[in-house]
Amino acid sequence: MSFKTPMLHKEQEKPSETAIERTLKKLKAIENIYYVCSNLFTSDIATASHKVLKPFCELTGADYGVILLLKNPGKHIHLEATYGFPDGYMESFNNKYMPSMSSEDIHENWPSVRSMLKRKIVVIKDTSRNNIGFSKYFSEIIHPDEIKSVASVPLVINNKAVGAITNYFVKPHEFNEEELSFMKTTANVITGTIERNHLLEAAKRSERELAQANEVLKQVNQELDSFVYISSHDLREPLRTIESFVSIIQDKLGNNLFPHQQDYLLRIAKATQKMRKLIEDLTHLARATRDTKGKENEQVDLNALLTEVQFELTAFIESRKAEIIIHDTLPVICCSKEKISSVFKNIIANGIKFNKSDKPQLHIKLMQKTGLDPNKICVCVEDNGIGIEKEYYDKVFGLFQRLHAQEEYEGTGAGLAIVKKILERYSCEIWLDSEVGKGSRFYFTLPLGKKDA
Ligand code: ADP
Repeated sequence: MSFKTPMLHKEQEKPSETAIERTLKKLKAIENIYYVCSNLFTSDIATASHKVLKPFCELTGADYGVILLLKNPGKHIHLEATYGFPDGYMESFNNKYMPSMSSEDIHENWPSVRSMLKRKIVVIKDTSRNNIGFSKYFSEIIHPDEIKSVASVPLVINNKAVGAITNYFVKPHEFNEEELSFMKTTANVITGTIERNHLLEAAKRSERELAQANEVLKQVNQELDSFVYISSHDLREPLRTIESFVSIIQDKLGNNLFPHQQDYLLRIAKATQKMRKLIEDLTHLARATRDTKGKENEQVDLNALLTEVQFELTAFIESRKAEIIIHDTLPVICCSKEKISSVFKNIIANGIKFNKSDKPQLHIKLMQKTGLDPNKICVCVEDNGIGIEKEYYDKVFGLFQRLHAQEEYEGTGAGLAIVKKILERYSCEIWLDSEVGKGSRFYFTLPLGKKDA
């Protein structure tokens, strides 16, 4: 595309204006630029540049105007907006040239380049008296002899020039304070937009990186779950072998063994028992993240579920003379019955186990929680047990984390980790508060509707 337009002196086309007309025009331009600047809140640099440049040139009375931006890397000069240039010139410039600030033909005596290098406004009232040059890239549009005055305002962010706004006048132009102040304001509007744009881009980048990291984490977790699932199955076999040989030795040699040998066998039997429990817990943990084929989205009546859980724990409840009080009628929820049973069983059993009272008491209530997703309910299981110190509120949900010795309270420390994992599967949460010596309250959310895929 060629832009060889006839170099008509713009002033010759205009009928002469009266001083009042000029003042009115200027006031209108001020109103326009004020309107644009105060309403412009965008991160789109191209939109901001186009909206701002026209009223800016109308205000100063410039015949031509450009907004140049330095594009990293290489600091290429990109034409972001033009005024007084023919349509399509900007795209043509950007496709054809985009000169680099370090290239030989970029001279400091070009007003835009100078304002960017010096990071100061460059005002040239009379070009004939200054050693200035013009971008050869604009020579198709502006003949250097035609320009009498120039002003260029650098766009500066963090002490670095990122571009410039430049005005060209075919008649000598006197720049007053008001114009210079408007030039700075306009430059601020553009730099503000660039900063917003950079922030938005950085936020989008972080969001993308986070999504990628989450994807990797998901994969690693899946692999880890498969590993735990497979190894917990594979570990059962050698354990069974050890148990069988212990049993054979006891059967065959039991009466002929010395007491210390009997003691060794007893210790092996205890250790295998503990290992069996650990493997069982690992299997439960691995199952917590697996689908219970076709039974993930059952309609489960929580009242019936709690009756079953109490039935399964009957021996334990009776041995401790524990009482379980359910305060509310609970809803029907959509979940895997097996998994949510395991949640209640773990928490209820813990409330009775970690309890020194003659009469352990558990209260199960529905809670009202501000900001709770309407598709969820919040349940509280309160006990009158030994309590948990505040610093361990998070730790108890970690795998194999126990606050007490085995001799004091039996267990592996996997129960609450399994509970947490099951709930996370339904995008649900669990947390607690407690008073040492008085009891604990475990709160958890449950899904009313379908499990998120
Ligand atoms: P386990 O019951 O096998 O020890 P859990 O994961 O269920 O493992 O619990 C982890 C630890 O949290 C327990 O060892 C115990 O110290 C503490 N804990 C859990 N529930 C309670 C409770 N209701 N009251 C006091 N301490 C508790």
